[in-house]
This record gives sequence, C-alpha cells and structure tokens, in this order.
Amino acid sequence: MIIVMSPEASEGQIEAVAKRVKEYGCDTNISRGTERTIIGAIGDERRIDQELIDAMPGVEQSMHIVKPYKIVAREWHKENSVIDIKGVPLGGNTIQIIGGPCSVETQQQMDDAARFVKEAGCRLMRGGAFKPRTSPYAFQGKGVEGLEIFRKAADAQGLPIVTELMDVRMLDTFLEWGVDVIQIGTRNMQNFDLLKEVGRTNTPVILKRGMSATISEWLMAAEYIAAGGNHNIIFCERGVRSFETYYRNMLDVTAIPVLKKETHLPVIVDPSHAGGKAWMVPALSRAAIAAGADGLLVEMHPKPCEAWCDADQALNPEELKNLMGELGGIARILGRTI
Ligand code: PEP
Ligand code: MN
Repeated sequence: MIIVMSPEASEGQIEAVAKRVKEYGCDTNISRGTERTIIGAIGDERRIDQELIDAMPGVEQSMHIVKPYKIVAREWHKENSVIDIKGVPLGGNTIQIIGGPCSVETQQQMDDAARFVKEAGCRLMRGGAFKPRTSPYAFQGKGVEGLEIFRKAADAQGLPIVTELMDVRMLDTFLEWGVDVIQIGTRNMQNFDLLKEVGRTNTPVILKRGMSATISEWLMAAEYIAAGGNHNIIFCERGVRSFETYYRNMLDVTAIPVLKKETHLPVIVDPSHAGGKAWMVPALSRAAIAAGADGLLVEMHPKPCEAWCDADQALNPEELKNLMGELGGIARILGRTI
C-alpha cells in the first residue's frame, strides 16, 4: 500500500503516519520527493485500517497498488508527470529533442555542437564524458575534464546538460558540476547501488532500458530510484538485443504505449543507439513520436566522420535541423508541439 501525503504535509504528520503503519506491523519506506512524500507500507497490508490512515492529517490518499512497482505506477497518478529540467518541461505537451554528440571530445567540438543543437531548436543537450566502451582499449571519455568542457559549451547557449553516470564514486562530482540530467546507460540499468544513490538526489534521471531487460524489470529499476525519493525519472527506450544483425539494436516501439499505460513518468526514445546508422535515425524518430514518445535522445556531431565514438550513427547539423522540422509536422497532427 502507498500513502500519498499532501504537498503541504509537515514532517510531524509524515512521521505520525509512518509510526501508525509500523504499529500495524508493517515496515515503511519513506520516499521524500521534491513535490510530495510517499510512504510505502511493506508487509501484510491487510492489517492496516485504511479509513483511519486516510483520516490522519496530511494524508492525501492511500491506495493498494497491485503492481510490484508502486511510485512509478500510473495506478495512483493518472495524469502525466512533467519533469522540470531547469525550466524545460519534459513529459507535457511539448516534445523535447535532446541533441548532441556521443562523447565530449574537445572544447571546439562541444562549442560547435552546442551552437548547432540550439540552432536546430533543441532545448537540451547530450554528451558523454564517461563512456561505457566494449573494449578497454577504446576511448573511455574525457572524464571530469569532459564535464567542464560540456558545462562551458552548453552554458554559452543556455542548454541544460544530459550526461552518463557509470560509477557511484563520481556522483558528487556530477552534482558539483551541476549536471542537469543524469543518464543511466543500458549497461547499468540494474546496477542497484547506483540506482539507490541517484535516488537520494533530486536531479532528473534518464533511465535507459537494459539491452535485454523486460519492461517490468525496467519499471522495477525506476522504482529503486523513486523509493529513495527521486521522482524525476525519464524512461528511455534505446532498442533491445535481438537475432537481427542488420542494425545495432531492435527499437521496441511497442514499449512506448505499454510504458505510457503503466507509468505516469515521461518516455523518450534514443533512435541513434537503436539503428546504429545515421540514415535510420529519421525513420525511427518519426515512429517513436507517432507512437507517443515524449522526446528523443539523438546523436549529432558537428563533423560526424571525425567523431571519436559512434561516428556511423551521428547526424550532421543539417540533418538534425531537417529532422526537427519533420517531427514538428507529426507533433502538430498529434496536437503536440516541438
Ligand atoms: C549513450 O547514450 O551514450 C550510450 C552509451 O547509450 P546506451 O547506454 O543506450 O548504449
Ligand atoms: Mn553513442
């Protein structure tokens, strides 16, 4: 059972409800979000007198949630949640396209990329400073220096930044550099210790789908973050492993309406790591938006053929601009904006 406290509930009221739940013999998980606190009752919920709980001061509603994921479930929160990223809304009527290179390389490359991202009309920028590479001999990212380069380039254009966190030991550094959105990559979707730690922050998190994860595993991974008190979670479908070798991953378009049904949180799509080739990106992007995605995470490099990482799948600046125009048309049909 979850007990949703009203946004105005005082600390004393929260404590009183948690104490009452414990008196019924249940354990509690108190998830203190920026907007509201949600108390989870763990154990034999049948012992709880729900009417009594509902009458307690500060309680907005209490509900039995059938699904194993609770806070992220649409069951208790019918409306779409809109995540505020430094004033940029994600999950509302406006579709957000997050553009930028696979990895941070040089100040010049990032300055150019930020300018092109902004010119194309995107409001958020991506770029990896820490790269999860299959080979230990491949470029591993610029590390902390990359965060500095990224911050400088994006700030000059007023763009909030999205970047991947792989190691819990770097979390404080990410917070110090004011990373606006922490990306959890496909390889870390079930790194539960990492999820718990980002759950203790308020920084929005993009949770990519594990390359072989079921939708329910993915929702449970998000619940780890939410249970810690961070309710600012964005799901990102990036394709799953399949028998097909023609493309990098199989974009699971079906997952988009399924997730939109199961969770109130925003769902975005990464067409770049799905197709693995730049020429596939427009088609996959159109499909994603048409299927109800709230945004895209797209790789764009000022000079794709010179990219240090994922050169084949990077759009050039012109292609990103054209894509934005095309998607605007689809958004209009859907009654949304870009
Ligand atoms: C990325 O977006 O830079 C990335 C490494 O993606 P994924 O985790 O989906 O492979
Ligand atoms: Mn990449």
